[in-house]
Amino acid sequence: MKSIQAHENALSLIGNTPLIKLNRLTEKIPGRFYAKVEGFNPGHSAKDRIALYIIEQAEKKGLINPGDTIIETTSGNTGFSLAMVSILKGYRCILAVSSKSSADKIDMLKTMGAEVYVCPAHVAADDPRSYYEVAKRLHKETPGSVYINQYFNELNIEAHYASTGPEIWEQTGGQITHLVACSGTGGTISGTARYLKEQNPDIEVIGIDAYGSVLQKYHETGKLDKDEIYPYRIEGLGKNLIPSATDFKIIDRFIKVTDEDSAHMARTIAVQEGLFVGYTSGAAMQGITQLNEEGTFGPNDVVVVIFPDHGSRYMSKIYSDSWMEQQGFFDALQEVEKPVQVV
Ligand code: PMP
Repeated sequence: MKSIQAHENALSLIGNTPLIKLNRLTEKIPGRFYAKVEGFNPGHSAKDRIALYIIEQAEKKGLINPGDTIIETTSGNTGFSLAMVSILKGYRCILAVSSKSSADKIDMLKTMGAEVYVCPAHVAADDPRSYYEVAKRLHKETPGSVYINQYFNELNIEAHYASTGPEIWEQTGGQITHLVACSGTGGTISGTARYLKEQNPDIEVIGIDAYGSVLQKYHETGKLDKDEIYPYRIEGLGKNLIPSATDFKIIDRFIKVTDEDSAHMARTIAVQEGLFVGYTSGAAMQGITQLNEEGTFGPNDVVVVIFPDHGSRYMSKIYSDSWMEQQGFFDALQEVEKPVQVV
């Protein structure tokens, strides 16, 4: 009798995401370009890796047992991944989120079994009502709880050092010359780059930052410049504080991309490569276009770009024509390029 070939549950599908060659998008750019497509994780983003890794480290250290509680402050990809891993491993998952989070996101987290505390967005970070303070209080009050604290948790870096880095090294047969990755908490780029540079210190590591974020300037000057901070639309990329989960020394340079260019690029990735990816994947690809304009790449280069998540989370944003229209993102396009309205 043939054996049944099945995964025990979705956890074993985390990581080992495919590296996919980019063809039409990079046709006119010297070098070979490959995307590490993290939307193939079961929770549809790279955050599955840190959720699983950080929870398993806590298990190994005896900090948590089944029935205990995982706590974090995010309505984004990390929240979804933590909720998913918690269900499969038998933990309670509490997420303190800002009242700015969309109803869709909150519903999605609840669907995945998380208890969601919606905290006022307009209060200062140190106000007891803020989602940071609520998470900290719940952590103190709940015995056997783990506070993930992804922006300030070294295990965030370690998760990518242990998985994303070695996978890319193997998948490129050690030929990688450049790594291009978005920086939010900085865990992805720092952990991946740390592993890759240990194999070959000549690999160039480029972080993608947003206009409205402090990361690039901090990298260049060592100072947090508050004038760099203003609202922007890309979610998950850039920051208004300096996360300790970013290893600035391992990153060679940052470049900034705009909301508008990144949104258009995400749509271009879909139609040119058939890959339905998130807003920050558009940002990373836009970064490659800008680097090419500076003459960064040569014919022998092997460039890996990380696409952090799946496009389905952005249906009411960059993949909605009316949202693009509201942002004024269609204004710059020629009449002929405007989307055709089918009535
Ligand atoms: N893209 C998206 C969509 C994200 O949610 C995140 C995480 N904030 C990032 C990129 C950046 O990843 P990291 O936090 O590891 O820097």
